[in-house]
Amino acid sequence: MLNIVLFGPPGAGKGTQSERLIDKYGLIHLSTGDIFRANIKGETELGVLAKSFMDKGQLVPDQVTINMLRSEVEKHDSPKGFIFDGFPRTNAQAKALDELLENLNTSISVMLALEVEENELKVRLKKRAEVSGRIDDANPEVIENRIRVYNQETSPVKNYYQEQNKFVGIDGIGSINDITERLFAAINNI
Ligand code: ADP
Repeated sequence: MLNIVLFGPPGAGKGTQSERLIDKYGLIHLSTGDIFRANIKGETELGVLAKSFMDKGQLVPDQVTINMLRSEVEKHDSPKGFIFDGFPRTNAQAKALDELLENLNTSISVMLALEVEENELKVRLKKRAEVSGRIDDANPEVIENRIRVYNQETSPVKNYYQEQNKFVGIDGIGSINDITERLFAAINNI
């Protein structure tokens, strides 16, 4: 199996690039943000809980997120692989993901980390707010908070994969096609 963690700060382009990767490699795309938003739309219990954190730019608690992710992974019978987008966002989530994949006799192949500097992220998120309808894109304070949470809690997850020699940094500045080519090249190099 090819199991990819697509990593990067809010606005780095994870969603856009995920689409390209699933097309090429036939992977199952699991975006925790998208799954939470679908639950919010469906007014599920999970959605109501997730919304209270997401609207403030905070992380949904680990145990809730991990349980949700586990049940999504278990829905698929003999998949070619997964692309994890927006997960793991904490070291506890990274550990839980390793355990979950171990139970399926597989593991993470690589973490591809899109690197984009903060000012560019803010410009992109502001632009996205005009079309996404996302409450967490519309408010500059919430954007600041998401970037702060990323720097404090999520960025250290890189070290977790670096220690396993699975970390690959990808320059996230350039055209969408250029970045896709960089990701393809990194995957071919595994
Ligand atoms: P972005 O990366 O652009 O901020 P996402 O759609 O990945 O957008 O995430 C939106 C929000 O969903 C996050 O700010 C957070 O509140 C919640 N979320 C998504 N994934 C996770 C996760 N793995 N753990 C905790 N919260 C999460």
